[in-house]
Amino acid sequence: MTIIERNANGLKYYQFAAFSELGIPHGFFTRHGGVSPKPFDSLNMATTVGDSNENVLENLARMFAVFELDLATRYDGWQVHSGTVTCVAKPRDVRARAMRTDALITDRPDVTLVMRFGDCVPVLIADPVRRVAAVYHAGWPGTVKKIGANVVETMKTVYGSDPGNLIAAIGPSIGPDHFEVKEDVAGQLRAAFPSNRNQIESVDDSGRILFDLWNANRLTLENCGVDPKRIDVAGICTVCRKDDWFSHRGDRGKTGRFGVLISLDGMK
Ligand SMILES: [Zn+2]
Repeated sequence: MTIIERNANGLKYYQFAAFSELGIPHGFFTRHGGVSPKPFDSLNMATTVGDSNENVLENLARMFAVFELDLATRYDGWQVHSGTVTCVAKPRDVRARAMRTDALITDRPDVTLVMRFGDCVPVLIADPVRRVAAVYHAGWPGTVKKIGANVVETMKTVYGSDPGNLIAAIGPSIGPDHFEVKEDVAGQLRAAFPSNRNQIESVDDSGRILFDLWNANRLTLENCGVDPKRIDVAGICTVCRKDDWFSHRGDRGKTGRFGVLISLDGMK
């Protein structure tokens, strides 16, 4: 197994071995160990779902404390299902409104990248040679827009990364068993992956169209030159495992968002 369950201070989170071996602080945090009440119980990271700012701030502080990272180093975006990539050079001024973006990249150890999820695909990338870290948000719109390709291209042009050196982790999110789509969404996904239809689409016994966002995002990275052996997939479906994860579909919209964090502080 390339994914490792960890527990600290009542928080349960997952790491990927390839990132841990490099000493990169990172985690996909389950819903356990926070202070938020139902239906945000309990480690909810989003203020946009109806939870209080105080609860979310305490939950964020608990997530950062796991890695002894300073909460003031955080940079988070306003996730809008775009293909937009943001290069981050300093922590965010949290008094100002967050930028609309769905991918964050940094080469700065004094910046901690944070994003929020509740079924959409979270992806972490690191470049151990150029010492760069990225996180991005790929729901089906971001998958269609190939946000992963935008991230790899930006890592190449801005940070000098060679795609062959990158490691990638595709985290817990809605799985191919649960991601049912209607014809309009299916058409857009098919158009984005014209030569991989049988790797990403299936039809079940009752005629439901199911898509595999894990495979689609893996293919996007492979098509950019990322080594398939350096891409890990958690294989954890948030709808199947809503006991551990916030799931927009699994909880019919009344739920929180879980946190994903990456930092270069402490990288070997
Ligand atoms: Zn499932």
